[in-house]
Amino acid sequence: MEHVVVVGAGMAGGRTVVELREQGFAGRITLIGAEEHLPYDRPPLSKAVLTGRTDNTILPYRLAELPDVELRLGQRAVGLEQGTVHTDAGPVAYDALVIATGATPVRLPGAANQRVLRTIDDSLALRDALRPGLRLVIVGAGWIGAEVATVAARHGAAVTVIEAAATPLGPLGTEVGGHAAGWFEEAGVRLRTGAAVEQIAEGKLLLAGGEVVPADEVLVGVGVRPDVGWLEGSGLVLERGVAVDGHMLASWSPEAAGRAAGSGPVLAVGDCAAWWSARYGRRMWVEHWDGAQSSPAVAAGTLLGLAAGKGEDELPVYDPVPYFWSEQFGRMIQFAGLPAEDSRLVFRGDPTARRAPDARKAPGWSAGWFAPDGTLTAIVAVARPIDMVAGRRLLEAGARPDQDRFADPSVPLKELLPT
Ligand SMILES: Cc1cc2nc3c(=O)[nH]c(=O)nc-3n(C[C@H](O)[C@H](O)[C@H](O)COP(=O)(O)OP(=O)(O)OC[C@H]3O[C@@H](n4cnc5c(N)ncnc54)[C@H](O)[C@@H]3O)c2cc1C
Repeated sequence: MEHVVVVGAGMAGGRTVVELREQGFAGRITLIGAEEHLPYDRPPLSKAVLTGRTDNTILPYRLAELPDVELRLGQRAVGLEQGTVHTDAGPVAYDALVIATGATPVRLPGAANQRVLRTIDDSLALRDALRPGLRLVIVGAGWIGAEVATVAARHGAAVTVIEAAATPLGPLGTEVGGHAAGWFEEAGVRLRTGAAVEQIAEGKLLLAGGEVVPADEVLVGVGVRPDVGWLEGSGLVLERGVAVDGHMLASWSPEAAGRAAGSGPVLAVGDCAAWWSARYGRRMWVEHWDGAQSSPAVAAGTLLGLAAGKGEDELPVYDPVPYFWSEQFGRMIQFAGLPAEDSRLVFRGDPTARRAPDARKAPGWSAGWFAPDGTLTAIVAVARPIDMVAGRRLLEAGARPDQDRFADPSVPLKELLPT
């Protein structure tokens, strides 16, 4: 294995290069990225960049200083054949390939005036557009929508958020999401739930049922899709993202497997990887920073293990409890785990408590999802980061903490850890 090609120069692609070098790979590495920028951090785009606190979120990877690393920025991979990545600047042969093409925002019907927020350029352009009185309509009351609404309202924009579901923060379910609805109101943001947008036209949105909502600017934040369109027809197994096993190894369809024999391993990391979790007994699609940060170490370890002739049971395994955070309406929201079906939701603290007008901090609370057998399967912490530290350890341990003590916010969660 002399030449590793990494496609996608976001956090996961950049970290893969760093991990390969740190774990001792001495061969050549080529990093191909569609954007002109060095790998940069995306979470600040809807926070520090949009508020004007910084313009630069380049990650401190110093890739240009690493020996034998070729950066091909501004080049896009357009196809894959066994052993060769085709780019818009020509073919690149590989001995091993790591796919890190991330995810791309879903857009709505209607070409007019539709912004999304994925890149630094999107963020800077949106920041320039924000002004007092701007009628900004945000479609989607998920993470991106709520974070942009927070900043835009502070800029004095007249913000309306339109959400098709009954409550904001869909993945947390209606009971938790219902408590978040008040945060929008508290910030002066108009939240309309149960309203589906059919089309975006010049200066307006058309809702199902015929209603027209006027807008100077529209930001669509209705989720992302793994950016794997360039792999269609290649024979690589795709299941929404690149289907990988616990070692981050992709596979070829039976028809392509014969052609692929001897062409070198293919792996995927970050948002574009749909990984198999032994912990949950299912494939996982998790498009969050934590995965882009931690899956590359496993991919690099797998590649080096294969090159050293290690057996499958000696290769590293990626199987974390999913984790993400969001900062919205003056609150840090952290979520970890995967709520089991038929979970019982147990609150810790008062989710209905409102922030006093002169209070610096929002009241904190948490909630845990308990499976019917008492296992804690997920936890959300709202302005209560201390709960997340012990909460993640409880989840990783597959613990069944006492639910009455869990519900008592004066009991530190670390006291519920199994001994
Ligand atoms: C505004 C914003 C705020 C966020 N906030 C949070 C947060 O608070 N908490 C959290 O946990 N997560 C957050 N996230 C999610 C987190 O940033 C992502 O999970 C992470 O960036 C994924 O990294 P990645 O490297 O896998 O993919 P990406 O960051 O998407 O990078 C993929 C790169 O590959 C390039 N590429 C795509 N196709 C090709 C191709 N064919 N050829 C070459 N290059 C290609 C893309 O241009 C891109 O540069 C946020 C994301 C955004 C956009």
